[in-house]
Amino acid sequence: RFIAFEGGEGTGKSTQARLLAERLRARNLDTVLTREPGGTPGAEAIRTLLLDPPGEGWPMRAEALLFAAARADHVAQLIRPALSHGKWVVCDRFLDSSRAYQGLAGDLGDDLVRALHDRGSEGLLPDLTVVITADAETIASRLSARDGDTSDAIGGRDASYHARVNAAFVRFAEAEPDRFAVVDGMGEPDQVAERVWQAVSPLLDG
Ligand code: C5P
Repeated sequence: RFIAFEGGEGTGKSTQARLLAERLRARNLDTVLTREPGGTPGAEAIRTLLLDPPGEGWPMRAEALLFAAARADHVAQLIRPALSHGKWVVCDRFLDSSRAYQGLAGDLGDDLVRALHDRGSEGLLPDLTVVITADAETIASRLSARDGDTSDAIGGRDASYHARVNAAFVRFAEAEPDRFAVVDGMGEPDQVAERVWQAVSPLLDG
């Protein structure tokens, strides 16, 4: 089974991906916790290029190609082999981040982003994509608490950019309700983890 987590920065999705992986492991399910961009040595090297770009930063088309290349490596070398061995894969971000950040916020359009994914990763989709939401104020305060450390973020993005991205994830989920679960990310991490579990546990039987 393949579960992806999506949401803007500061929604708590990385924490929730980790808590879900721990919960699956506690049930003796062989689980791989991984992230995008990254997850394999090649894709982590591309992550470094994306987060700390040489020169002026990447033009949006180049950025989208780098994300697609990182994903192609991650899918071929880690995700598909793990799934074919019957493992659970929990991934912090996947295709829908590219749709939100490069496709919508970056104006490249959904068709191009999906085409890159179809060619690069043979269109692999998670069994379930969990979108974590949080209100704009909470996100702003979590991001400002991180302020000293921007090493894990692409720079130059303001609150309205983050709001657009978060709204995009919710719209994606509304358009394809079977592929997504939207989970309220407000409250304590354990409370949110319980909501995530409600969404994911039906897959244990399937
Ligand atoms: O998930 P995390 O917040 O660590 O993502 C790292 C950075 O990459 C963030 O700034 C995120 O917004 C950005 N990103 C992006 N496009 C993607 C995936 C991540 O701009 N497709």
